[in-house]
Amino acid sequence: MMIISAEAGTCSYDIIVGALEHARSSLRRLAAGRTLPVVTDERVWFLHGERLAAILPVEPILVPEGEAAKDWAGLRQLIARFTAMNLDRSSPVIALGGGSIGDLTGLASGLFKRGCPVIHIPTTLLAQADSAVGGKTAIDAEGQKNLVGMFHQPALVLADVGFLDTLDERQLRAGYAEIVKYALIGHQIVFDWLEDHGHAILSGNREMREEAVRQCIAAKVRVVEADPEDRNGLRALLNFGHTFAHAIESVAGLGSVLHGEAVSIGMVLASAFSAKLGLCPASEAARVRRHLAQASLPTTLAEVRVDPGALLPLMAGDKKNQAGRLRLVLSHGIGRAFLSDGVDAEQLRQFLASVE
Ligand code: NAD
Repeated sequence: MMIISAEAGTCSYDIIVGALEHARSSLRRLAAGRTLPVVTDERVWFLHGERLAAILPVEPILVPEGEAAKDWAGLRQLIARFTAMNLDRSSPVIALGGGSIGDLTGLASGLFKRGCPVIHIPTTLLAQADSAVGGKTAIDAEGQKNLVGMFHQPALVLADVGFLDTLDERQLRAGYAEIVKYALIGHQIVFDWLEDHGHAILSGNREMREEAVRQCIAAKVRVVEADPEDRNGLRALLNFGHTFAHAIESVAGLGSVLHGEAVSIGMVLASAFSAKLGLCPASEAARVRRHLAQASLPTTLAEVRVDPGALLPLMAGDKKNQAGRLRLVLSHGIGRAFLSDGVDAEQLRQFLASVE
């Protein structure tokens, strides 16, 4: 077991990487004798609810699976259930599931009575390596990804890679894309390591999975501590490939392409665009694409049947843009991502017109 401590603004919390049972005392301390609501979906509750219920008294609140949970109806349902359970502001809520459940539960707990504690118990590779840490919460609205959200840091995060044994291959690969992202942003050595061990991570080696999750969490904590609310440009680096990805998800129809799959294509596009602008060696952009393809992740828009021409209008409306200027995370090479202000929309249009 390993504990990583995070300080984000005025909040500090622990992230425990290890078996859920090792976190028994931390969970019981936060619960303080109360029955805690657990927001989860039917599948995850059926597979893993018992393990949690063996540790402390919990009451499941079931929401739809995947991206479908992240909407106004889901948010309203949670607020209604929290009210019916008469939760007070100190009463923690548990999010047990993937990033969608974490995003929805994080938002509902952040809004309820102006904020009650949330404990994240992520059960997908993506949520363990990335989304459970950092306090970003959101639902989709008006056809756009993560349009409505807030920052609400967790009280505790428990990442147990044992949960991943029941995850299907597609979800696993989608989570792997976010692991590759951390390497591409600032850790060339990790990318080299992934080229050697990616297969072991995907095929179920627990030790390698835990090492990958731990490295990503440690990297994310460093970024979140330096820029807790995405204000100074540092945290924006975590969005490498994401401006393309969010547009791909919106065009494909929210939920039809998995977030990590869209991120995989987004990272290939961001690397290739960087190469086209002469910022990054073409050989490194090709290496990124090769690695993601070897992990059986989609690397082209054609694979997800998205028309490249449809992306630009959505990318122009991205949250990271400021004063009408297009902001994109680009790359000087593997492990050297940077935030570029004032990306030329015409160059981006021409690039998109040239991709598969
Ligand atoms: P998900 O939460 O959308 O779906 C997970 C699916 O896997 C569900 O069908 C669930 O039932 C199933 N599942 C979960 N755990 C399982 C297990 N252990 N065994 C078997 N099945 C299991 O998928 P995701 O990739 O975890 O999350 C994607 C979401 O995360 C997107 O909405 C994305 O926008 C969000 N996200 C948020 C952040 C953040 O910082 N807040 C970062 C990255 C992504």
